Amino acid sequence: MTDTFEARVVAAYGRHLQVRDAAGLRHAARPFGRKLNLVCGDQVRCQHDARSGELHVVEVLPRRNALQRSNARGGAELVVANIDLLVIVLAARPEPDPFMTDRYLAAAASGGIAALLVLNKTDLPPSPELLAQLLVWQGLDYPVLRCAARAQLGIAELMVQLSNRTAVFVGQSGVGKSSLLTRLVPEAIVATGELVRDGEGRHTTTASQLYELPGGGQLIDSPGVRDFAPAISTLEPRSLGFVEVDRHGVGCRFQDCRHMHEPQCAVSAAVRSGAIDTRRYESYRRLRRLFTDLTRAQRPG
Ligand code: GDP
Ligand code: ZN
Repeated sequence: MTDTFEARVVAAYGRHLQVRDAAGLRHAARPFGRKLNLVCGDQVRCQHDARSGELHVVEVLPRRNALQRSNARGGAELVVANIDLLVIVLAARPEPDPFMTDRYLAAAASGGIAALLVLNKTDLPPSPELLAQLLVWQGLDYPVLRCAARAQLGIAELMVQLSNRTAVFVGQSGVGKSSLLTRLVPEAIVATGELVRDGEGRHTTTASQLYELPGGGQLIDSPGVRDFAPAISTLEPRSLGFVEVDRHGVGCRFQDCRHMHEPQCAVSAAVRSGAIDTRRYESYRRLRRLFTDLTRAQRPG
């Protein structure tokens, strides 16, 4: 395969791709064959097709990690690959859903991806509940950064956190993800305004894009990532990606303890003693029930 070269997928809209080669040049490309399912962030091998003059992606290189979301049927759907940092954006308004944040954190831990919590809109007073939740997450060693996209506060600090990494923003709609993106990557304004028409002429969402940050590093913006629910089937089966459950779970009597009603469960004991936050444990139980239902539904027969 002498005439092939490696590149990274930097834009994906269905089977329309843009790849960036080692020299930094962008090329339009499309996957060769029906089986290749490619997403933004993928490292791929490309080949020029002499007959059509098109650039084909002929192979996807092994993914270091991937974020997958729950699709309508409860299955897992790939949204972005090879990332270093999951940035979970929160704000005082819209009212935060801590279970959603826990689910993002669980997906990050399960995929071996670092997580950063960003509290945007610091001009709005956070509720006592939100402040308490932030303290719990900080106590679990999740870094929290405060900023305000509108007043341009904390943007330089955020840029430092993103430098030399590939990051994605996730979070409830309305928390300010696109506002932060346009502060970090001014040329993204153009792209967010670009709508793609589907076959029937309707406007659909924009394509996934990987942006180069001025301070080094890349930021992936993808409609499939921004409000997604992480796929439950991809969570680490023992702790579901809850770091404190993982830490305390080594003390459970049974190796396959689910930390629900089992006797001599070190996780339940830690909840009773106050070492594990009750609200976090409730999130864990909620996710465990979903995980169990899903595993049952997928078992044949
Ligand atoms: P997204 O859905 O997460 O992408 O959120 P947007 O970036 O579209 O922002 C949602 C709303 O929040 C918009 O009306 C923004 O102007 C507003 N917003 C963004 N950043 C701030 C901020 O720092 N303070 C305040 N008060 N509002 C903000
Ligand atoms: Zn247990």
